[in-house]
Amino acid sequence: MGKVTGFKEFDRETSKKRPVKERINDYKDVYKKMDEETLKNQGARCMDCGTPFCSWGCPIGNLMPDWNDMVYKGEWEKAYNRLSLTSNFSEFTGRVCPAICEGACTLGVNRLPVSIREIELSIIEKAYEQGTIKANPPKVRTGKKVAVVGSGPAGLAVAAELNSVGHLVTVFERADEVGGLLRYGIPDFKLEKWVIDRRVDLMKEEGIEFRTSVNVGVDYSVEDLKKNFDAVVLTGGSTIPRDINIEGRELEGIHFAVDFLSQQNRRVAGKTINGKEITAEGKNVLVIGGGDTGSDCIGTSVRHGAKGVYQIEIMPKPPTERDDTMPWPEYPRTLKTSTSHEEGCERDWCVSTKKFIGENGKITSIQGVRVEWKKDSTGRMVMEEIPGTEFERPVELVLLAMGFVHPQHEGMVNDLGLKLDQRGNVSGDENYMTSEEGIFVAGDMRKGQSLVVWAINDGRRAAKSVDKYLMGETSLRG
Ligand SMILES: Cc1cc2nc3c(=O)[nH]c(=O)nc-3n(C[C@H](O)[C@H](O)[C@H](O)COP(=O)(O)OP(=O)(O)OC[C@H]3O[C@@H](n4cnc5c(N)ncnc54)[C@H](O)[C@@H]3O)c2cc1C
Ligand code: SF4
Repeated sequence: MGKVTGFKEFDRETSKKRPVKERINDYKDVYKKMDEETLKNQGARCMDCGTPFCSWGCPIGNLMPDWNDMVYKGEWEKAYNRLSLTSNFSEFTGRVCPAICEGACTLGVNRLPVSIREIELSIIEKAYEQGTIKANPPKVRTGKKVAVVGSGPAGLAVAAELNSVGHLVTVFERADEVGGLLRYGIPDFKLEKWVIDRRVDLMKEEGIEFRTSVNVGVDYSVEDLKKNFDAVVLTGGSTIPRDINIEGRELEGIHFAVDFLSQQNRRVAGKTINGKEITAEGKNVLVIGGGDTGSDCIGTSVRHGAKGVYQIEIMPKPPTERDDTMPWPEYPRTLKTSTSHEEGCERDWCVSTKKFIGENGKITSIQGVRVEWKKDSTGRMVMEEIPGTEFERPVELVLLAMGFVHPQHEGMVNDLGLKLDQRGNVSGDENYMTSEEGIFVAGDMRKGQSLVVWAINDGRRAAKSVDKYLMGETSLRG
């Protein structure tokens, strides 16, 4: 701890954002870079707690107190070396992580937490700038071959870890580009895609083979997968979106959020769009679902030039401050206002959609109703419609952002005859092995819909188990 009084001297600062009027005209990163002096001061706010709750809160166990201090002292290379012990892709988490660590930071008890996410991002970006990050291929190859199916953050973490200990890794991806939801889910204004390309280029240099536009189970059989590789890791994500089966669902103009978002990411990349284009231009847009995906739909609709954006959530409005249900150091499930919310939308809670109304086969309005949540006799929260609160609202585009139910079973998962859990995710034992010998699973395909940092964590742990399975022992940290 370089500066004992740092937390008293400096207020928390986060990265500045580009003005709304400017940023809604493009898909470039909303945030500006923080200057070095401010970063050092933010590093100085860390109290180097005896029990660092930040590390406890971080799914990959990042060592924040160490690198906060190193940034304060300007020891950038040392900070990168410490960060890379636990984190494979800080350039992704530094941009899109909800920073569970900051929710756990001790300073948050009676002040604002250390700006850990900004510090993490600055360390990795400085390391790229200074040429500290270089391809580091393994010195010795083990002769073992591993297939990874799916190139999202879980698959990339598995590949990076297993390649680092000398296995020959091939990543299969059915999309035309590597990255999973980083590429074709999260909008460019949160994560510009050159960030993924820069990392993937390094991974290629380190000897990882990427085979895109290969749908395993369709273009490449599961028999070939088992025959040609010593171990297989499935990281296919949770890809079946939650639907809403109410009257009018078949009307034109009602789409899954991920279809809308992935089309836009393709547009930004200058790629062709297969199928009918979905646009919010000039429309009243209804976003159903109050999470990250819903928020991304708002920012994208605003950039399309929507007439208005209305977001509804069936759950109650979260409190603005921590309450007894989320005491420190638990993650505060308080009201979040994302950069997309700031760009213009109306938000509403405790609203359920009753039916979609249309004319000539196209959506023209929705009927909603207000609901309330009550405890039943068993203490379970149940929802009840409030009589007489039905309302109608004109909409020309509806985006369903209610999450994902489970991975796709048809094809690869069924062909392999894998056991599923109660929610329909692929079951893995404590070593991440599925019901089939030598076939492992990680990320959203195993856990269900989650976060980038959890996918990386799962990938690292699965890689450790795979290495042990192949070699009898492992030096990977997991
Ligand atoms: C719109 C949106 C915004 C989000 N925003 C955030 C955020 O801001 N912060 C955050 O932390 N998390 C966010 N998330 C969640 C996060 O993106 C996911 O939890 C994470 O990407 C899961 O990683 P994964 O590697 O398990 O799967 P995915 O990223 O889903 O990758 C799975 C890959 O497997 C491929 N695949 C599947 N089956 C096959 C097959 N048979 N053959 C070949 N390839 C196959 C798919 O094409 C896909 O590319 C967001 C999610 C969405 C949808
Ligand atoms: S909990 Fe906060 S103050 Fe304590 S070591 Fe972690 S970042 Fe620093």
